[in-house]
Amino acid sequence: MEPVLRINLFIEGQEVEPSSGSYIPRTDPGDESRTIGLVADGSRDVGAAVDAARRAFDNNAGGWVSDYRLRARVLFKAAELIREDLERLARLESLFSGKTIRTSRTSDIPRAAEIMEFYAGLADKVLGTGQIHRTGDLVAVVKQPVGVVAAITPWNFPFLILCRQVAPALAAGCTVVAKPSSLTSASAVELAKILSMAGAPKGVFNVVTGGGETVGGALIANEKVDAINFTGETTTGKWILERASRTLKRVVLELGGKNPNIVFDDADLERAANAVTYGAYANNGESCAAGSRLLVHSRVKEKLVRAVVERVSRLRVGYQLEESSDVGPLVSRGQLEKVMEYVAAAESEGLKVAYGGNRLTDGIYSRGNYMQPTVVDDVPPESKLFQEEIFGPVLTVTEFSDEDEAVRLANQTVYGLAAGVWSSDLGKALRVAERVKAGAVWINTYYTLPVEMPWGGFKQSGIGRNNTVLAIEHYLEIKGIYLDSQHGPMRPYYRIVLG
Ligand code: NAD
Repeated sequence: MEPVLRINLFIEGQEVEPSSGSYIPRTDPGDESRTIGLVADGSRDVGAAVDAARRAFDNNAGGWVSDYRLRARVLFKAAELIREDLERLARLESLFSGKTIRTSRTSDIPRAAEIMEFYAGLADKVLGTGQIHRTGDLVAVVKQPVGVVAAITPWNFPFLILCRQVAPALAAGCTVVAKPSSLTSASAVELAKILSMAGAPKGVFNVVTGGGETVGGALIANEKVDAINFTGETTTGKWILERASRTLKRVVLELGGKNPNIVFDDADLERAANAVTYGAYANNGESCAAGSRLLVHSRVKEKLVRAVVERVSRLRVGYQLEESSDVGPLVSRGQLEKVMEYVAAAESEGLKVAYGGNRLTDGIYSRGNYMQPTVVDDVPPESKLFQEEIFGPVLTVTEFSDEDEAVRLANQTVYGLAAGVWSSDLGKALRVAERVKAGAVWINTYYTLPVEMPWGGFKQSGIGRNNTVLAIEHYLEIKGIYLDSQHGPMRPYYRIVLG
């Protein structure tokens, strides 16, 4: 039995209790009768955290802003510390989020370490440009960190997404205030401790836990915050963009997705069946990148659906810390109810549930947020299930008869985050990849998302990109410096002005 964890704030290099004196209880997603954490309500501490980050930036604390080699060393060291502590971090992450321990251990935590390393290697390569102007003077384009960054993160990949947001910001020389989801705040404070141990000066990385509107809203309104990186729901993203415009902050938004996995009749169906299953149910289906819409050519539809259903029926639903679990409990009772409402909507729309569709309530399942992985067949594009992000283990199936129809269906939602294309005709696969409106397209694979792959959305899936060398630009201001090195005669224009 895990002890109840007290999750405090992290401000100016140390853990602090919230000024409100109150803590929000967090229950175990796998056993709602059990409290596993007490999360500090930091709604009165946002100002203090932003001030700490602001001071660290403005005073160049420990050389953070000017010394790119220091930043590289700190991030490399953080990657090493994450790897050394992998098992503990993985357990913590799974316990609070409901994702299976194997997911945290083999994917989330090691990938977070890779992200740290990637940006560590970039910290001393933020290069400007310069040239000797035709006048003989020097014109330089200098890149400087933008300042204080607010990182607001969701509950589905708490540690991984936080690292993805903050590693480039830190590499650029910014300072950070992180606001994790109150359901999964534990690993953010762990990251703060890791960065501190790795040598980040005080105030460089701060964490304020608590509610979305109270803590997140206060961060967005704070004039001392220069930029925001937000990952979460599209509706929250729109609200944030509107509020951030009042103080003209830079904003990166990574929002929802309703991603198609498009399978043509010439695809390797065995591989496709594996990836469609993985794409829909990995991370309990609680993923913006989930391949939640299977679009399949009518000629192979029956065969593929049979192969997928056979695989889904073998998935083991179980407690998140059990080694044998493939699908864990959903993150909260509210999330489970939301997903079950979609299953009910499928039934009231007269759709066919080809597999699953039920909450699991017997025996070990009785106290947790468990449901069967579910497949809904023959879902038309007008259906709510086709259009809306369900964010749970529910896959919809829709058939198409040619390439144009596949592309049309793929693009027929407000989202545009990711897509999969399956075909042995690589020319066709590339054509479709080009025509699909999505920030990331996988051909003959799904979900592979190394830090070298840009991540962000078209349409209402977001603005801007995380990952890759591109992400660091979001945290950099560009300054032009013109140096008159000649002390020669002033140009005629000035002579006229000066008389
Ligand atoms: P959410 O929008 O409810 O919350 C995300 C974060 O924002 C949390 O920390 C929350 O406390 C905070 N927040 C909520 N309201 C706020 C407000 N008014 N002002 C400031 N902050 C506020 O999202 P969630 O339920 O935690 O996560 C699920 C959503 O995240 C899904 O829609 C999913 O698609 C999306 N997501 C997107 C990506 C991506 O890479 N595009 C990745 C993961 C999750």
